[in-house]
Amino acid sequence: MSVGQAIWRDQLTDGQLAVLGRDPGTVELARPDILVVGGGMLGVAIAAAVGDARLGSVQLIEAGRLGSGATGGATGLLIPEPHQWSDPETFVDLERASLERWRYLDQVTPGGLGLVELDWIGLAPDRGGLAAHQPVNVEWLDAGQISALVPGLAWRLGGALIRHQARVNPLRALAGLAVDLPAVATGVAATAVTMKGDRLVSVATSAGLISPGAVVFATGQPQVLDGLDLDIPADRVKGHLLVTEPVRVRLPCTIAPVATPLEDGRLLAGGTFDYGDESPAVRPEVVDAIMGGLRAALPALGGAGVSHAWCCFRPRHPDGRPVIDRVPGIRNAWLTSGHFRTGILNAPATGLEIARWISAGRPPPEARAWSAARFPRRAAEF
Ligand SMILES: Cc1cc2nc3c(=O)[nH]c(=O)nc-3n(C[C@H](O)[C@H](O)[C@H](O)COP(=O)(O)OP(=O)(O)OC[C@H]3O[C@@H](n4cnc5c(N)ncnc54)[C@H](O)[C@@H]3O)c2cc1C
Repeated sequence: MSVGQAIWRDQLTDGQLAVLGRDPGTVELARPDILVVGGGMLGVAIAAAVGDARLGSVQLIEAGRLGSGATGGATGLLIPEPHQWSDPETFVDLERASLERWRYLDQVTPGGLGLVELDWIGLAPDRGGLAAHQPVNVEWLDAGQISALVPGLAWRLGGALIRHQARVNPLRALAGLAVDLPAVATGVAATAVTMKGDRLVSVATSAGLISPGAVVFATGQPQVLDGLDLDIPADRVKGHLLVTEPVRVRLPCTIAPVATPLEDGRLLAGGTFDYGDESPAVRPEVVDAIMGGLRAALPALGGAGVSHAWCCFRPRHPDGRPVIDRVPGIRNAWLTSGHFRTGILNAPATGLEIARWISAGRPPPEARAWSAARFPRRAAEF
């Protein structure tokens, strides 16, 4: 069993792996028009969108390898519709727009991004078990229909079926988006910024000084850097995931909360919310509990083993929604942070939103919902 590393790297070609570790320590552009700090799904999607919008030269820097943060450990589900039950319409709109953008990018990228179309079933004791209000694009299946679709499921439950969702291997998609970015430096960390009035004039990095026209910070959580006065409340929530060895049990689609089928007969399960656990270590008892739940739901799994078990941290703001904003008080700096459970899904739409904002010099109308100003600044500590 591989413990601590997601399955995603094992599914990549050598060429895709090389993209994730591109140009270590080498900053090509000391004076780019736009500097993107952070090489997770958000940073790469933003760099791609800014490039597509022809806003000038773009340099991306990433402290580790591309995807070495939350992105490389995510489940990779691109599933907007179930959020109708739990999130405001503006958020679901962002997610839907982003899924459409993912499909477009998958089409236009040579070789594709590996997007897999997928239906989603959420099991529940009855229709009201998910929410009193049932959206129109949800088909309710009774326990008999679910049993016919998912032979071997031990639970007699109905479920909500939502069609036309999707998933990606997050690292494959990331490599696909990053391969044509002209200037990417991995192993380069931003360490401090210098301001002149309300403009950010330079970013000190582990590979020297960069003097950009504009900067976008996409570092998961809001960036803590010398000289950058960012005070947006955020924390992170650990989650564990596992992948089984190839099994005979076949799931027709994602069955929440049971598992998602992967290409070669493996099942992907978990996505725990381990509040308060700050340790980067994989906890065997959590992995056992996920596998125990999976065996209880699908007894035909028998003694099938775990091939990969890992954990990662979701960056989160207090309301669980992202910040997509200009850095307060700085004319030429933007940030996005706290994408929590849906950063893979929402990256392409976020990239477009930031590119439009930089290009027009004013926020697109939908940006108001993601403003940092929704969190009151904390009182200074004495
Ligand atoms: C268990 C789990 C399951 C998930 N499942 C899903 C899912 O199914 N669908 C979905 O949409 N989302 C999912 N997510 C959420 C998703 O992983 C995150 O929202 C998303 O990856 C955040 O991307 P990011 O680019 O903002 O952050 P990250 O991926 O963390 O990237 C930030 C990058 O910035 C770099 N960095 C930080 N500081 C600096 C610096 N000073 N200089 C240079 N670089 C720096 C870091 O090294 C890092 O690589 C899941 C998360 C977890 C933990």
